Amino acid sequence: VSLPNENAPTHADKLLGGLLVEGFDQESCRSRYQSAMYRRNAGRQPSQHLVSKLRSHEALQRRCGPGTAAYTNALEQLKSGKSVVSPECRYLVSISYRGLGNRIIAAASAFLYAVLTDRVFLVDPSNGMDELFCEPFPNTTWLLPPGFPLVSYQGFYLSTPERYGKMREDGVLRTGEINGSAAGDLPAFAYIHLDHNQTDADKLFFCDDDQRLMSSIQWLVMRTDGYIAPGLFLVRAFQSELDALFPERDAVFHHLGRYLFHPTNRVWGLITRYYDAHLARARRVVSIQVRVFPWQADSPELLEQIKTCTQSQKLLPAVLGEEDDGPPAAAPGGAAKPTAVLITSLKAWYYDKIKGAYWERATANGEVVVVDQPSHEEAQRYHVKSHERKAWAEVYLLSTADTLVTTAESTFGYVAQGLGGMRPWVLRMGMINTTVSWPCSRDVSMEPCYHVAPVYDCRRREDAGKIVPHVRHCEDWPTGLKLV
Ligand code: GDP
Repeated sequence: VSLPNENAPTHADKLLGGLLVEGFDQESCRSRYQSAMYRRNAGRQPSQHLVSKLRSHEALQRRCGPGTAAYTNALEQLKSGKSVVSPECRYLVSISYRGLGNRIIAAASAFLYAVLTDRVFLVDPSNGMDELFCEPFPNTTWLLPPGFPLVSYQGFYLSTPERYGKMREDGVLRTGEINGSAAGDLPAFAYIHLDHNQTDADKLFFCDDDQRLMSSIQWLVMRTDGYIAPGLFLVRAFQSELDALFPERDAVFHHLGRYLFHPTNRVWGLITRYYDAHLARARRVVSIQVRVFPWQADSPELLEQIKTCTQSQKLLPAVLGEEDDGPPAAAPGGAAKPTAVLITSLKAWYYDKIKGAYWERATANGEVVVVDQPSHEEAQRYHVKSHERKAWAEVYLLSTADTLVTTAESTFGYVAQGLGGMRPWVLRMGMINTTVSWPCSRDVSMEPCYHVAPVYDCRRREDAGKIVPHVRHCEDWPTGLKLV
């Protein structure tokens, strides 16, 4: 067991204000009850309504989830191809694909949809979802078990005949028709396609009439790699419940992420060993996420942007000229507590340069700065377990800091800011290598941006970023939507 962090809040509450339940086996998932000891920022308190809704949702998962008679019945119904008029339990299967950050924000927001619609949430276990995260629900499982009758569900895409948008376009499904008796004519499942190439008909998902229609379909299989939560806040039928669940609209992912995603012991080992070795004794920790692509050349402009951002915003001390020895050490003999800088990146070049700058030059205020980076994987590797574990450990480590600097547009950074409860300073260069005149700006909220969000309201009259005050366009992705 790792030593508690002496800088951690003394009121460290292992259940995070009731977000988590007591009673899980501690050894099988150490991170679950230890996370509060590693986060410098205590984070927000969940509403009482959210806490009780999660408890009742857990009960639903136990009553209807894998291994129950209700689940067996629902599978039979799925095989039959027809929906029942009032099924005992309804289900949402969430497909897992693309990078880790994408998978996490997608699963969190799909879970929110399941909670709002009283559906059992089952996550596709592929792409490491079974290996990276502990079970979030007590005495049941969130993993879709093997033997699911829709054998090719992971390959569902635009041409899948049961795609909801396609069935609406073809008139197979019509809104306003299903009152009671017609429900038996509905298909047993629909495939919700919310990938980047979704059609206008797929986007009807965010409309009230379509949500009413969908509520009569027992099984939904959803594909999204994005954070659909801002879109859910536009559905009128969900609004009063969302208001009660999240009186602080900027903390939706913060709570859902902390509730759902607990690193498994292997990953927790990576996190705690790094933390104890590099961060635990620091006076403060500044995390910097440098998202670059494997094929991009090392960029002196981006390096300059990181330096200007961190120094002009006073996140890190300025370095003096080569000839300037700086002020004498305030605590000679190694007694000074350093400021630790945690960098994550696929490349080592930025880390090497920043580390060098703080070794070769004195800081203006005498502050001791230690810079480190856990890994530099060079390439993005899919389906490689050790690579995925490092990525998850690094996202988590970023989230333990006092201060966070992220790269615009990156879901990897979004997860870190949300879990850590921090409004980051966003490096404007972003993943699309454009040069901009200002180095970074403070994000308006800690929420992830929903990149391929609906553009208009359901009647196609109003800009979706202007319908309700707490759903706005994102600064780093202007067509996207974000909770503020
Ligand atoms: P996004 O592409 O920035 O939105 O983030 P994703 O997490 O969805 O996908 C990027 C993938 O690249 C990650 O899941 C990792 O596999 C890899 N990757 C990117 N940056 C880093 C990093 O700083 N550290 C590690 N270990 N992996 C990274």
